[in-house]
Amino acid sequence: MKFRTRAIHVGNERCAQTGAVVPPIHVASTFVQHEAGKWREFDYSRSGNPTRKGLEQTVAALEGGCGGLAFSSGMAAIHGVVTMLESGDHVVAGEDIYGGTYRLLHHVANRAGIGVDLVDTTDVAQIANAMTPQTKLVWIESPGNPRLTITDIAACAEVAHAKGALLGIDNTFATPVLTRPLELGADIVMHSATKYLSGHSDLMGGVLVVKSEELFDRLYFVQNATGAVLSPFDSFLCSRGIKTLALRVLEQSRTAQQMAEWLEDHSQVRRVLYPGLPNHPGHQIAGQQMHDAFGAMLSFELDADLDATRRFVESTTLFQLAVSLGAVESLIEQPATMSHASYDAADRAAHNITDSLIRLSVGLEDFDDLQQDLQAAFTAAGS
Ligand code: PLP
Repeated sequence: MKFRTRAIHVGNERCAQTGAVVPPIHVASTFVQHEAGKWREFDYSRSGNPTRKGLEQTVAALEGGCGGLAFSSGMAAIHGVVTMLESGDHVVAGEDIYGGTYRLLHHVANRAGIGVDLVDTTDVAQIANAMTPQTKLVWIESPGNPRLTITDIAACAEVAHAKGALLGIDNTFATPVLTRPLELGADIVMHSATKYLSGHSDLMGGVLVVKSEELFDRLYFVQNATGAVLSPFDSFLCSRGIKTLALRVLEQSRTAQQMAEWLEDHSQVRRVLYPGLPNHPGHQIAGQQMHDAFGAMLSFELDADLDATRRFVESTTLFQLAVSLGAVESLIEQPATMSHASYDAADRAAHNITDSLIRLSVGLEDFDDLQQDLQAAFTAAGS
């Protein structure tokens, strides 16, 4: 089956009893056993739930993995990966990672004795140099957050594997519509399902997809032992959202590309960060590892100070001022004070998260309306 067919049919088998074309939501927390001590497929919903399993199968089929695991948030999913590590282990992660992942690695994982180094993963040699014999995990995002950097996933897989580490990719921004990291050599793919997978700003969730049965068993053990599973209702909502994932991502990306080209010529814009622009440093690699489009996230720097940037992000109306991304509604935010506020000031400066940086999540609205909304904000910021 092709991608769009899988998104609709894998994990969504019709109900054998009633013929309902949408499987029922299984809300039960526990399942009857036929005999004491003899387990059937489902026994308790933390360990396995039919509705959650459907979603896990769908995402695994879209990413080309051997199994999926759905968690109660993206951070719970990343925490699941980190929980596989032991005291003394070391992680090399990208500088351009989500602020919450930075916080988890620096302020939670460190308490368990796990060391972390952040490097510029657009330069794969920096990953190799930062790895030690203790490095068990390389963790990257491509496109990165919030500067939309592009990392060569296949090259990272080679470097990580050469030194015996796993490669994990947060594929939230690209989605499997555009990039399938397991095909490029990654071992673990992670999604904040809160974003594009569900697509409507109405649930929190996270999903891991893995390449091997051995990794699946290790992560399933962690998921069941720690318990941050996705609820049946949220699993259903996410499965419903995924049916339109490809259409949404491609159309939103088309609007983002148009928006990036318009912003690039705007006199009040210092720089546009969008991998679909030929002058983006990662444009060529993005063209190889992103299929059909370059995504619907874009950042740009205003030619303005902190106050004017604040006026800008506070004066749009269609672009709503909010963290998060990936839904049908367009959102705008200032990374320095919002999504990346958990970076300390020195790290923000080191990673070029400037006060004038603005991040857009381009939604499904009409391009003309979105353009007018931004133009009104340029006028407000300039006055
Ligand atoms: N990864 C990325 C790229 C994100 O943008 C986010 C949230 O914004 C997360 C992970 C964390 O996901 P969640 O908020 O679902 O816990």
